[in-house]
Amino acid sequence: MKIQFVDLAAAYQEQKSEIDSAVQKVLENGNFILGSPVSDFERSFADYCSARHCIGIDNGTNALEIALRAIGVREDDEVIIPCNTFIATALAVSAIGAKPVLVDVNEHTFLMDLSKIEASITKRTRCIIPVHLFGQLVNMDAVWNIARSHQIMILEDACQAHGASGELKAGTIGAAACYSFYPAKNLGCAGDGGAITTNIDSVANKIRSYRNYGSREKYFHEEIGTNARLDSIHAAILNIKLSKLDEWNERRNKAATMYNEMLREIGDIETPKTSYGNYHVYHLYVIKTHFRDKLQEYLKENGIPTQIHYPIPIHKQKCYPEFNKLSFPVTEKLAKTMLSLPMHPHLTAEQIEFICDTIKKFFKQKNIYGERTTNTADIAEV
Ligand SMILES: *Cc1c(COP(=O)(O)O)cnc(C)c1O
Repeated sequence: MKIQFVDLAAAYQEQKSEIDSAVQKVLENGNFILGSPVSDFERSFADYCSARHCIGIDNGTNALEIALRAIGVREDDEVIIPCNTFIATALAVSAIGAKPVLVDVNEHTFLMDLSKIEASITKRTRCIIPVHLFGQLVNMDAVWNIARSHQIMILEDACQAHGASGELKAGTIGAAACYSFYPAKNLGCAGDGGAITTNIDSVANKIRSYRNYGSREKYFHEEIGTNARLDSIHAAILNIKLSKLDEWNERRNKAATMYNEMLREIGDIETPKTSYGNYHVYHLYVIKTHFRDKLQEYLKENGIPTQIHYPIPIHKQKCYPEFNKLSFPVTEKLAKTMLSLPMHPHLTAEQIEFICDTIKKFFKQKNIYGERTTNTADIAEV
């Protein structure tokens, strides 16, 4: 049984004819930069997110950087971010000369620990970036209350949460929300891509100008901008794939339910928890176990690919020596115990069963309560 961590080929096969003709149309029309493929997708994705504006950007990291600039975060401002996130959240803050301020996460939801935010707020705090990690929303009511009482802005990192919702959808509460369309994300293109959604007209206008050399009208440059546009070919593909996003999220959600049920009985495994009221879109399905490294090795031997998100917390990275001495106990513990199992919309029930059975076998041969560990010869008979 061939199991993949993500299966991009299967996703393509499902919409092959539509995608092929959309790409061909762009090639025939030659409208490679902006133009209708990009504006069509921007309209559809804004509607999908219930946002007034969507601006296509060349990747998620630049989306975060440009959104921070557009909402008015400046050099030396402090920006609060969770410690367990993809490094890009921090890099975007650093890229504009602002300072990432890390807070620890909740050990059951993996999301930013909101009780730690207030203690991290100083006079220089300008913004909080809640990261809707692994596919579920941070409690945005709570973030909103903190942000409002301290006059701080909110920028949502929704790069792993296309279509996720709590009381509201991802991206509807902050000043802006950033998305990545990196191929393996829940909505992915055929290379790098990203977007920013916002309900604020002036922010949208700034972003449109900034991503296009600081120009609203060709050859008139009112501000220093850059080139960070979403390519038309990617936009055309995204517009097709967007029509499947809800269905694919639902399939991820069902796969997660199957995993949860089959892994429930196993001793040293904690399955991922969904926060109350959330619709989780499972960008990743992350379990925890104290036997993580050995289990990962065993699954690999049995043809099951897994990954770790994230093995080295941001404060332990060499690029942030100023954070290396800090301690974030929950994130550090998670870095040693988290394991991401295969998760994508084309995972079959048989594959999930095989993965869970293999995990069960691992825990049978490895006696986790300190008794004799059976040798591998015994495993085959189980
Ligand atoms: C993927 C991701 C990004 C960056 O997106 P890219 O398109 O890869 O630049 C930022 N934040 C989070 C949480 C992500 O998962």
